[in-house]
Amino acid sequence: MIALEKYFDHNSTTPLCEAAREAWLLMADEHWENPSSLYREAGLARRLLDDLREELAEELAVEDAERVVFTSGATEANNAVIHFWSQGPGMVAISSVEHPCVRAAAAGFFGRDRMIDIEVDPLTGQVNLDEVERIVAMGAQVEGVSVMAANNETGTIQPWDVVAELCREAGIPFHSDSTQWIGKEPGGGFSQIDFFTGSAHKFGGPKGVGFLVLPEDFDNCAFIGQLGGPQENGRRGGTEDLAGIAAMIAALKNSANTEDPEEAAARDQFEQALEEAGDFRIVGKRGPRLANTSMIILPHTRNLKWLTRLSDRGFGVSTGSACSAGAGNPSQVMMAMDLEYEEMSRVLRISGGPGQGKKEWMALFDAIQEVNLDLLEE
Ligand code: PMP
Repeated sequence: MIALEKYFDHNSTTPLCEAAREAWLLMADEHWENPSSLYREAGLARRLLDDLREELAEELAVEDAERVVFTSGATEANNAVIHFWSQGPGMVAISSVEHPCVRAAAAGFFGRDRMIDIEVDPLTGQVNLDEVERIVAMGAQVEGVSVMAANNETGTIQPWDVVAELCREAGIPFHSDSTQWIGKEPGGGFSQIDFFTGSAHKFGGPKGVGFLVLPEDFDNCAFIGQLGGPQENGRRGGTEDLAGIAAMIAALKNSANTEDPEEAAARDQFEQALEEAGDFRIVGKRGPRLANTSMIILPHTRNLKWLTRLSDRGFGVSTGSACSAGAGNPSQVMMAMDLEYEEMSRVLRISGGPGQGKKEWMALFDAIQEVNLDLLEE
């Protein structure tokens, strides 16, 4: 097991927090019945599920708990929204830095010719709002607009609230993949937007559980995220994972859920040290970013070699999103950020987590320095 003080891949996944573990064990031990069964004990599981829906709604500042659909994670939730929109004849507008589970869903369900890319400014990583305005002016030709809250690779925070407002004025449905935001930043504002999604394992909950929030006063029959059962008020077939759901909510309550100035200061000190030490570049530094994330371009040598050497020293970092890494394709996010093809092979993504302050970040800096010297000497 990797040592937590050296784990810098929190955007990929996080360890299960104690509160989530306790909640999971309690439900799995004592309320394992199927909430859809009809005997008394299953009825209790059903009531607990209803309570948990209320609790999550409250955490997300969503007034009507019926808007919440529990899912197997953000991939399923995002796919479901894009699939739902694709039943209309129009186009879908998607930012060029969306996670593959949004972009691939759009390409798959709409087809490339019905997809509009919303470009980002390579310096800030943020979507171009003039472009969004042009897209929403297309009105009913657009089935929906999707712009994530925060990017998993660069940490860039998108002006999702502004995009949501532009869409609202134009009467176009808006979706925000808020997977990297929820649990890290204050979450309340999402309740105002139509569709948003989250995933438990990004904030100390278990893998394989997440949620989708639907629009207010949404027609119950309009949306079916997964066919095959009456669960989730007919919106998603499949036996509910009561233990996972309880653990997710315990984790969310336990998560910082607020901006941590110390965390940003530690990350900034790390980045400054790197920039002073040599030819390291920080991607998207000019724009607002999550306090825990740093995407760097290394001065030389393929990233995998750095990753392996850092791993030898006990550190866990990433070469980019786990979902596109290894696929042999250049990352869509890196392309959108205008990186040269060769530079893409020199990218490292560092993402810290709770409890990692200046000491831990500077220990990573020291390890990077050591690897740098080793590689230069070879
Ligand atoms: N969206 C974003 C922004 C993500 O970072 C991830 C996880 N890498 C997902 C969606 C997919 O989440 P899950 O693992 O719950 O399917």
